[in-house]
Amino acid sequence: MITNRILLTTPTFPYPSLPANDSLTDATGQRFTHGDDIFSLVSHTHCYANHILAQNINIPTTLLEYPRWNNFVEEVDKKYGIIGISAFPVHLDTVMKMCTHIRENSPETKILLGSYGAQAFAAQYDKETQKKYVDHVVLGEGVRFLRELLGEDTDRPIQQKVMPKCGGAPAFINKYPKGGLGFLVTGLGCPGGCDFCATTEMYKKKRIELLSPDDFVNHVELYRKHFKNLSSIFVIEEDHFRHPRWLTKTKERWEKNVDLVKNVDWTGFGSVDFIWHYAENYGWDAIPETGIGAVFIGVESKFAGEHGYRKVREADAREVFHKLHSMGIRTLGAWICGWDYHNHANMYEDLNYFVACKPTYQQLTRLSPFPGTELWRKLKDQGRVCDVPWEDVHFWSGSQKNISLETHETLNLTEYGYDLIYKTWGPSILRKLEVTLNGYEFCMDSDNPLMREHRSELYKGSCATTWGMLGAMDRFAPNGVVRRRVIKADERFRDLIGEPTPMMEMLSKNIEERAVKFKMAHMFNPYNRRPREEPAKRYLYNKDSSIKDDDIPYITEYPNKIPKKIQKIMNRNNLKYRILAKLLSYKFKLKSSKHINDLDPVILRSLAGQSYGGF
Ligand code: SF4
Repeated sequence: MITNRILLTTPTFPYPSLPANDSLTDATGQRFTHGDDIFSLVSHTHCYANHILAQNINIPTTLLEYPRWNNFVEEVDKKYGIIGISAFPVHLDTVMKMCTHIRENSPETKILLGSYGAQAFAAQYDKETQKKYVDHVVLGEGVRFLRELLGEDTDRPIQQKVMPKCGGAPAFINKYPKGGLGFLVTGLGCPGGCDFCATTEMYKKKRIELLSPDDFVNHVELYRKHFKNLSSIFVIEEDHFRHPRWLTKTKERWEKNVDLVKNVDWTGFGSVDFIWHYAENYGWDAIPETGIGAVFIGVESKFAGEHGYRKVREADAREVFHKLHSMGIRTLGAWICGWDYHNHANMYEDLNYFVACKPTYQQLTRLSPFPGTELWRKLKDQGRVCDVPWEDVHFWSGSQKNISLETHETLNLTEYGYDLIYKTWGPSILRKLEVTLNGYEFCMDSDNPLMREHRSELYKGSCATTWGMLGAMDRFAPNGVVRRRVIKADERFRDLIGEPTPMMEMLSKNIEERAVKFKMAHMFNPYNRRPREEPAKRYLYNKDSSIKDDDIPYITEYPNKIPKKIQKIMNRNNLKYRILAKLLSYKFKLKSSKHINDLDPVILRSLAGQSYGGF
């Protein structure tokens, strides 16, 4: 029995696909840029819950991410004293199979189950059934639980050092983008108490702070120390704007570091009313000064406020989105279909209210009663929860019996909504460019010298790299309305920033050619015909003295050979980008020094990154 190391793992592959045949691990393809034709971003992410656990216990840890069954069996055979599984409800069939295997082959191992899979498991099964599979169903914050179980000090601060980066890009640019987006969790839980929300239930309507403003900025600085090209961090918290003091302190700390102001922004979370209140109390300008560059906002529904959801009762979502966009802040808007009040008379009105917000990225889902939530208990009492397999319990679950709509209608409406947004506003990449141009203009007009002299640089660079996509967007626009938006964005770029450099022009042509080739190659064999699969990874948190305080605290291994076909595409992409960067650099910088300007180095850096960067 291994007692000086523990194993943490995600469920084993294969993963179920989502109803629109998307991958569970591709957050941009399945939702944020879903429906954008070839401009949808394909992306990968990591299991951060396990990384946070592994970083915050003293005992060495092996962490399996997306293991295949044989990788998992190999580790179980080592006979760990503790194996922890972090899972979502959608994985529970696999999780129970994994637990059965551990029980049969390493009966003394204690099994822990955490995350929202644990919440659903505890709600669905009686105690006896739970014990058959799992020794500890971990609900709430897991670090404290694990430290207690291991007999460690529970009060030391939580760290999240240089966690693996996620990455995304349109498939015609790079099907296997490198990680380019950092990830941190500043807080868990929300006092909001919305009945459908698994988070508010999980943390008993409380917020647990994981990173103070100082710790947060220190962690971002550490990322920058290791990855000079990193320009964006995804920061999990249910609603940063409910905690104005945290935001204000972050702003003070952020503004002290010009490198951050100039080179990095972060994606936070907010809600319509709390953003509005924050702006009323601190001024709209204070929002971008916190370093925030994008906000996830759960609009949920035009009518949510009048049906008891406090976060959207006072302000008009359209105004809040518009105001944020005018300052260069991108939005990830979320809308839900299938409320009890939804019927054929109001569902399109509701959807069009959301479309009018013009979110930069979007998440349209169905109201899904996750086991363990208040909504689930209520619908169960009313006999309105259908018996669906675990693989269908997710944001697009059809497990709810609607009052006025057929089950299939809610799924169709979300798919229609994605299409409507694409055909109305164009792809998210275009919307990002439009908002980023606003940001540049806003900064140049700002009285705050930090915004004018430094944050403006961040916007300018981002505009220049995204501008290169306009040729492809013009060619493949879904209609004339969107094509005209593309042309207008180009005109605005030239007005505000100036004529694109010859390097940008050449790269843009290259991107357009790639798009054409990609379209032709996938005409009869769509690139997203099969959901994307992630490789298995093994992270070793060895915790030995060779790892210094600011080092990356883990070693990454690939336990399986990457399939030859994928390896070939990845190698070819690496080579192509390297050659392209060299060619551009030689042609426009070394040979014709007259073309040197401040945008070309940004373009070359983005080529080196081989990833879309961030939201
Ligand atoms: S405001 Fe958002 S995070 Fe908070 S309870 Fe409601 S849905 Fe959940």
